[in-house]
Amino acid sequence: MQIITTKQELQSIVKACKTQQKTIGLVPTMGALHEGHASLVRRAVAENNVCFVSVFVNPTQFNNKEDLAKYPRNIVRDAELLETIGADFVFAPTPEEMYSEEEMNTTFEFDFAGLDQVMEGKMRPGHFNGVVQVVSRLFYLVQPDKAYFGEKDFQQLAIIHHMVERSSLAGTFGDLKIIGCPIVREASGLALSSRNERLSEAEKQTALGISKTLFESLKWAKEDGATVAKVQQRVIDTINAIEGLEVEYYEIVDQTTLLPTDTFDHAIGCVTVYCGPVRLIDNIKYNG
Ligand code: AMP
Repeated sequence: MQIITTKQELQSIVKACKTQQKTIGLVPTMGALHEGHASLVRRAVAENNVCFVSVFVNPTQFNNKEDLAKYPRNIVRDAELLETIGADFVFAPTPEEMYSEEEMNTTFEFDFAGLDQVMEGKMRPGHFNGVVQVVSRLFYLVQPDKAYFGEKDFQQLAIIHHMVERSSLAGTFGDLKIIGCPIVREASGLALSSRNERLSEAEKQTALGISKTLFESLKWAKEDGATVAKVQQRVIDTINAIEGLEVEYYEIVDQTTLLPTDTFDHAIGCVTVYCGPVRLIDNIKYNG
């Protein structure tokens, strides 16, 4: 496995892969890797001739400076994990290598047909513009055949699908296929997240209340007289009743439009919860 830190080196390696007609899989990450990331990488390794993983804490997608500063970073451990699971190339640039000063400070605005105006987009203004700025840059540099994203960040996955299939950027990336991969959880149910590293053991126990409530809500949705509004509120109340947890939002929306829905068909519930200062996200699909 080779670690690359410059765009120039990356592009010359990509060119060589293309010349040899190798198919390329890309897994974009922000590092502090865990089994969730590993599941994406394993799939990319299995389905392509070469697998690139990017490890880059993208400053332009953070609207909270403290969150950016405290985001866990451990490239040595990340590289060890990636080596064992068969990644071929790790692209780990500095912010200065990735962006010019102007790019770092300009707010890029993309049109995502409203997908970026709800939930995470509403709570973190500019977040998805930053995500798309970095992901489109990575697609341009790596020219992957397939790129892998987790359903853990369901809204991000929907926006990237939209960017590749329907937005003004569609067509820019050839036949690129976006592959969504299921959420990997601890045996306890807690969704794996790099931010879990910031939780104490006691906070981790507390955070279990999030996934436990989401799973429980699948049963509530089947009770007589259940409505989306009632289940949504019950999830919020149940999590808020757990000491140490505070719901930022819980919204049951349509899986495609991400707009509020009054049926459980094709619905997904997306939650963001503060566990102390740590902001955790999770989601659950209700029907199919
Ligand atoms: P991040 O490093 O948090 O930006 O995540 C990089 C990629 O890994 C994103 O596509 C995430 O959705 C995905 N990912 C993060 N956590 C998980 C998880 N628990 N299960 C599956 N995919 C995940």
